[in-house]
Order: sequence, then structure tokens, then C-alpha cells
Amino acid sequence: MQGLRVHITGIVQGVGFRPFVYNLAMHHDLKGWVKNTSAGVEIEVDGDDDSLDLFLRQLQDEAPALSRIDGFSASFRPVNGFSSFEILHSESVEGAFQPITPDVSICPDCLRELFNPNDRRYRYPFINCTNCGPRFTIIKDIPYDRPKTTMAGFTLCADCEREYKDPANRRFHAQPVACPDCGPKVWLETKDEKENKVDHQAILETRSLLTKGKIVAIKGLGGFHLACDATNTTSVLELRNRKLRVDKPFALMLPDIETVERHCSIGPMERELLLSGARPVVLLKRKQGSTISEEVAPKQHWIGVMLPYTPLHHLLLEKGAGFPEGLVMTSGNLSEEPIATGNEEARERLSKLADAFLMHDRDIHIRCDDSVVRVFEENQKSIYPIRRSRGYCPFPVKLPLDVPQILAAGSELKNTFCITNGSYAFLSHHIGDMENYETLKSFEQGVQHFEKLFRVKPEAIAYDLHPNYLATRYALDRAARENLATMGVQHHHAHIAACMAEHGLDGSHPVIGVSFDGTGYGEDGAIWGGEILIADYKSYRRTYHLKYFPLPGGDAAVKKPARTALALLWSLGLEWDERLPPCVEFCAEDQFTLRAQLEKKINTPMTSSMGRLFDAAAALAGVRQKVNYEGQAAIEFEALADETERESYHFGLDQDEVDVRSVIKALVKDVMAGVYVSKISARFHNGLAESVRDMCLKIKSETDIDEVALSGGVWQNITLLGRTLSLLEKAGFRVYLHREVPTNDGGLSLGQAVIAAARMRG
Ligand code: ZN
Ligand code: ZN
Ligand code: FE
Repeated sequence: MQGLRVHITGIVQGVGFRPFVYNLAMHHDLKGWVKNTSAGVEIEVDGDDDSLDLFLRQLQDEAPALSRIDGFSASFRPVNGFSSFEILHSESVEGAFQPITPDVSICPDCLRELFNPNDRRYRYPFINCTNCGPRFTIIKDIPYDRPKTTMAGFTLCADCEREYKDPANRRFHAQPVACPDCGPKVWLETKDEKENKVDHQAILETRSLLTKGKIVAIKGLGGFHLACDATNTTSVLELRNRKLRVDKPFALMLPDIETVERHCSIGPMERELLLSGARPVVLLKRKQGSTISEEVAPKQHWIGVMLPYTPLHHLLLEKGAGFPEGLVMTSGNLSEEPIATGNEEARERLSKLADAFLMHDRDIHIRCDDSVVRVFEENQKSIYPIRRSRGYCPFPVKLPLDVPQILAAGSELKNTFCITNGSYAFLSHHIGDMENYETLKSFEQGVQHFEKLFRVKPEAIAYDLHPNYLATRYALDRAARENLATMGVQHHHAHIAACMAEHGLDGSHPVIGVSFDGTGYGEDGAIWGGEILIADYKSYRRTYHLKYFPLPGGDAAVKKPARTALALLWSLGLEWDERLPPCVEFCAEDQFTLRAQLEKKINTPMTSSMGRLFDAAAALAGVRQKVNYEGQAAIEFEALADETERESYHFGLDQDEVDVRSVIKALVKDVMAGVYVSKISARFHNGLAESVRDMCLKIKSETDIDEVALSGGVWQNITLLGRTLSLLEKAGFRVYLHREVPTNDGGLSLGQAVIAAARMRG
């Protein structure tokens, strides 16, 4: 007989780890205890050598599915003389921290009980167990125990308490455990009805409203959704109207995988993602003849689909005669504002948007939007994240080395922030576009919450060089107030570093970084975005970039690709032929004004943005002259690309500048000759992919670097990504793509953090 002490770190709380240890100890007849601390899980046991060996092995090999062990240490010691095995009270350890698990969709066991008339939780919208349910969104502090969650106010009934305390039960120490007698409730609020419907009646009434084409605000896991019948074009258009959201795609929730298959083509990886515990919105190719309204995602082949992830969703979307085949489930907010989470807040902010509210009284402590992913098949690992939030956050990115405690403030659009502790980088949930006070407030709350949860007091704050980004101003103000070191990080360097970091590169040798992006403040004050860098974590060299062209009106030009197109023609010395679509867009007088603005250089910052080049090309090809959301012209241009076209436009190289004169000349010639847009789009994509390969080959011949990282928002263009990747791989390069964090600005803060860490290391 001897004693054993084990310390485990990683994702080990809120995932059924203690019951797992308990049952394992029982099985081997070991005596001792297990407890959660804010540093991980501690175990002490007495037993014979063979049992202890087996116990140790099984601890690691058979750990619960939702757990992830990052650190495991065990030491033998003298026998303690324990007489039983117990689960001890959780303990706070000063300064120690713990990764927290993301929210997990309802598990198969709970789903079965939900629809079993003999179960005491039959049709109970908050059924959950150790293997499923809310986590991140209800946790106020660590260690993860009920009093530190928004479930604290619900006292367990005798039945629930028995389950909670029974180590053999699936709900043993499941913190959000609840039942109809003791847990949260749902109710429906409508404008004209004084008497609110509750429980099952509320859900039935909600279904009836949705069937009638109404828009209902539904409180979910990380915030409110606005829901309506996705097959009812009138409802979808009404929702667009009220939300002030033109054209930008809405996410859908479909009841089950069979329904998804009826409306979209899905492969094995897409199926796996749809059914995964994270339940992200997955971008899928829409099938012809699908009854989903075109207005859900106008002019796109792709629609964003998710499956129900809470019991409430399952009850709401239950198949039934006359009930819509699918619902639009878009975040409950007015365009550009953060998603509403509180009941009172929702009543205030969403009253003009929703006809009714399906409320509940389990508070959401931190907002968390749905995640969005797509599948990119060319590599063996094929998830390609677009927005990393609910279901993934706050799962940390494991860094190749230990770093100081840093806060990275992120970007302006699609903001996330990142804090580091030890070898973990905790990327925040999706904060949104930091263009208003509401979003800034949400950012500040998020930062505070993360610093508290993960016990971080930053030594330094990393920020984007753009002086007017709200995140940058927050960083500089706070650093001055608290006397912290500041680290300004160039936008595209951060993109490349983010890609390197998630692949675990230690930064000891540089890579070729191809950062194609919509915007990003350059060291010379210009708007960069078509950059080929040689970069490690500490520094970068700008090797090639798109030749500058003027952007009349600066970032405002983003809304009008026609202006960008004419400015590009002007800068290349190409004429504004009246037959070209961007010229048709502007009357003679407007053209005269624009020309004067360009000649006199009035508010015409220079840019090397690849995103704007795409806008210009799309406008010239006649795809779109004005956009309703960022990147719309480029997205529609890509959607038209002919997959079989082999020809390409030739991108020139003039010293360190990519010269697009010949590309644009050829493109204009094709437009004039009436060549199909599908061919023009394909030729543009092909040419750009070839140009990337050629530049990388040139760098390789001079430096021997044969690794390429692709990052920046333009790489959401799957057509460009596919062609570039295959050309680079054929040319012998090892290529890194984003797999954990988004290639757009949603992943930027990770790069800022690792760059700051490298500089601090010196
Ligand atoms: Zn469950
Ligand atoms: Zn109960
Ligand atoms: Fe960017």
C-alpha cells in the first residue's frame, strides 16, 4: 500500500471530471479525495501498487469527452490512512487560474429525457447534465461551482439535490442542474396581452406566432435571437427592415440533419461540425429548389445553418404540421450593436424589432454570439473559422511557450481581445464592430470579466497602430492610467503572427506572410492590405505590396466600389470609358468632381488594400457599384467565378510593388468585349493566385524560406484560397492556414499578443 498525489490542469472543470475520478477510485477500491481548486483538479488516494498504476493510466486515457488535459503530475508518498473516498469542497488558490469550458449543446441522454413523457423533466427547456448545458455564459468566477454561476439563486429541490449529490448519477455536481419544480422558467410577453403565457403554453404560442409570420425575440444561451419563418419571404424582409440590415446574410436554424440535407449539400466534415457540441453556424451550399427564402442570403450560394443547441430550441423547432421548416435566427440587436442579453435590456432595445418575447429567468452573465465556420477541404483538417465565439470561447489557444500576462486589444471590426497567462492565449468571444458606445462598453465588460476569470493583471497592452480605433484608444488610456507597457503592433504583422501562433510555430525562423486584407494602418500612414511580409514574432519586413492607389473619401469609399474603381483607373492612367459600369453609376458632374478630388488629392489617402482591389475589379466587371456591408462586392464577384476557366490576368511586379495595370487593362478589355463575368472573375482569381506563388518563389530563391502563412480577411475568399494553396503546394511550399481562429480581424488579437510577448522577451 502507498499514497499518491495527482495534480491535473487543463479543461477539467464543468466537464464531469470529479465524478469520473470518483467512479474510477471506487472501481479500484481506492480511498482518499478529489477536489477542484482554481488551479485545476487535486487528487489524493491510498491503494496497492497495481490499482494505483491502473488508476493513473485510466485518469489520462479515459478522461471525459469534454475535458482536455494540459498538465498532469503525480507523485507517490506514504499512506495517508483514508477510510473512504470523498469529493471535497472546491478551493480557491490565490492567483491560480483555470481554463473554463465553453457552452455545450444538449447531449443525447438529455434529449431523450426531454421528449420522454415519463421523465420528470419532460419538455423542460432547461434540462442539462454534466455532459451538456451552459458554462461560459453563466460563470461569474472560478472555481466553477453553482454559487459562482447565475444558477446561484435557484435552490435545488429534494429530487435535484439527490441527483446532484449521487456520484453514480449523470447529474452529479452538474452545476446548472434544474427541473420544472426548482429551476428557471420560460414565459411569453406580447404587446397587447396582460396575461403572459408560461411554460409549455408559452412555447406553443411562440410556435403559433412564428407560423403566422411574426418575429419573436427568443432568449437563448448567449443572448437573444430574433426569429422568423425562413421560408416566408415577407417575414424575412420585414425582419431586414426592422433590423436595418440590407442584404447581409441571416443565420438559419433547422430542426435536424435530415432537414439540412434537404436544403443544402453537406459533406462528412460539415455534418460533423453541425452535430458537434459547439453547434456553430456552418456555411453550406444551398440546393436548388430549396424552399428557404432567397432573402435569407441574397445573391449567395452559401447559407449559414445551425442545428438546435439548447433544449428550448428543440422544443421550439419540433416538427409539426404547418410549422416552418426552418427559422431565421439572427442576433437580437439593431445592426452594429451588441446582442441583447438581459430581459429588461431586450424589452428596451428590441421592442421595435420583435412582435413578442420568449423570455426566461436564467441570467446570461456574459454575452456570446453564435460562431460561424466553414469547411475548407483541401487540407486534412478542414474547419475554417469565420467567427469564433459560442461553443469555442473561452477555450484557449495553446502557445508554444510561456508568455507574460498581456492584454491584446484587437481591431476595430469583428473585434475580439486576447489575454495571455502561462502558455494559454484566451481569445474573447465576438465583441463586434467597435464603432459605437454600446460595443465599447461590451468590450470593457468582457476585458474585466476575462481578467477576473483567468486571474490576469496585464503587464503590457498590445494594440493596433490605427490611432482612431476605439480599442487602440482604450489600450493607450488604460496603459497611461495603470502605468503599463504598451506595444503597438502593425495590423498585417499581427495577422501573420496569429496564423503562426495557432500552428504552434515558436518563431525561431521567419515565414513568408501573405496578408491580404481590407484595411490596416501602415507604418507610413497609408491604408495597407496587399502585403507580402517576411515575418517572425519580433519583427517583419515588407517585401512586396500592392502598388498604392488613392481611395477618395478614405474608408468611406468602402461603401462605393464604383468610386474605388474609377480612382484605380485614374491612378493607372486608364481612361474612364462611358460604357464601363462604374462610369454609368456616376453622372458627368459627379465624375468631374471625383476627378478634381483625385487631382487635387483632397481626402484621398493612399492604399495597398487587396480588399479594395477586389471591390474595384467587381465594380468594373459590373457586379456591384454600391455595397450594403463590407466585402459584399468581392463576395458576389467570387460567387460568379467559373470553376473551369483556366486563363488568367497577369499581375506585374515592379521592384517591391505589385503592378495591376496589365490586370485592369485586360479586365476592362474583356468587359468591353462582353466576356462573361464568370470568366472575368475566374481570370482575376487565377492571376492573383499565380502572382502570390511567383512572389513566394522569388523570396524563396533569395532567402530559402519555404513556409508560407496566409492570413487577413481576403482569405475568406475560398476560391482564391483554394487556387493559391494548390499552386503553393505544387511549388513545394509548406502552407499554414487558419484552423483555430478566424483569418479576418476576429483572430487579430492573438497575433498582437504573441508579438508583444516576443518583444518583451527581448
Ligand atoms: Zn446532458
Ligand atoms: Zn428540481
Ligand atoms: Fe485585418
